[in-house]
Amino acid sequence: MKSGDLKKVALVGTGFVGMSFAYALLNSGECDQLVLIDINKEKAKGEAMDLNHGLPFAKRNMLIYAGEYSDCHDSDIVVIAAGVAQKDGEGRIALLKRNYEVFKSIIEPIVNSGFDGIFLVATNPVDIMTKITLELSRFDPSRVIGSGTTLDTARLRYLLGDYFSIDPRNVHAYVIGEHGDSEIVPWSQAYITTKKVHDIVDSSNGRFSFDDLYKLSKDVTGAAQEIIKAKTATYYGIGMALVRIVRAIFGDEKSALTVSVMLNGQYGVKDVYAGLPAIIGRNGVEDIIVLDLKESERTAFINSCEFLKQTAKEIGF
Ligand code: NAD
Repeated sequence: MKSGDLKKVALVGTGFVGMSFAYALLNSGECDQLVLIDINKEKAKGEAMDLNHGLPFAKRNMLIYAGEYSDCHDSDIVVIAAGVAQKDGEGRIALLKRNYEVFKSIIEPIVNSGFDGIFLVATNPVDIMTKITLELSRFDPSRVIGSGTTLDTARLRYLLGDYFSIDPRNVHAYVIGEHGDSEIVPWSQAYITTKKVHDIVDSSNGRFSFDDLYKLSKDVTGAAQEIIKAKTATYYGIGMALVRIVRAIFGDEKSALTVSVMLNGQYGVKDVYAGLPAIIGRNGVEDIIVLDLKESERTAFINSCEFLKQTAKEIGF
């Protein structure tokens, strides 16, 4: 741990996502210190006060305060959920360029503070913003992680649990690729307990169907838009997903989580960040699990990566 034996997290961006993460982190008691940083200093201050007033009810004590980038120097993990919202009529690339400028103003002072822990990025488009974080920080890719498809995987497991009437924690299935429209569910790798989803459907006498599963995967991809339509933003799920990743890091858990990682030749793909199950521990990404994909799944994954590469190229990455 950087700060003596204390576990310290710095959060940049105290909006819906950042504060859902902070609130979940306070409730889980995953760290000793949490510093909140935002361009809107008043907001960070108010959020720190509000969280502190929950401390008497929390399961453990924590030091929570609003701070500056210099406070990152002894942090173990910097979580980034800062970003600008899409303006009316603004294209994807224009938004990306503005978020790149935001990241320039964030990553440089963090690195200059002497921070040498792990970056965990949630800002969208998360795969590309994570690559930008890597380029701007020049850290080793093992220490620059995006939330990737952790949330999408959780949504998939929840929906499969509901469909097959089983605890989602007994569902072993992944969403991989872009956190976005080109993401895929490799059904050949989906299990309920130790049984292949394929076999369960085949032997169900029509009770379950591949059509239903296909619709379910579309619901996963469309979930964010549906929630945004209903309540303008999504934040609780991603807040908990970020806490899950932080716990895997602090606990040196070696957990398989579908974070956004830098591909280094897996499936013949290089130099792109995309969601894949990776082993997460105290050193960040300790390994990337290569799945035994069917040819069609492999092609879809490669296409998703190609889309991310092209998009990043459009803003010079
Ligand atoms: P929000 O507008 O509520 O919060 C953004 C925060 O960033 C604000 O507090 C703002 O003041 C701050 N900020 C803006 N520019 C800054 C700068 N230059 N320096 C420091 N702070 C700055 O937005 P939100 O709903 O919290 O969403 C944040 C990001 O998370 C968005 O990009 C959103 O798309 C993304 N998101 C990701 C996932 C995922 O699965 N990865 C899920 C939901 C949302």
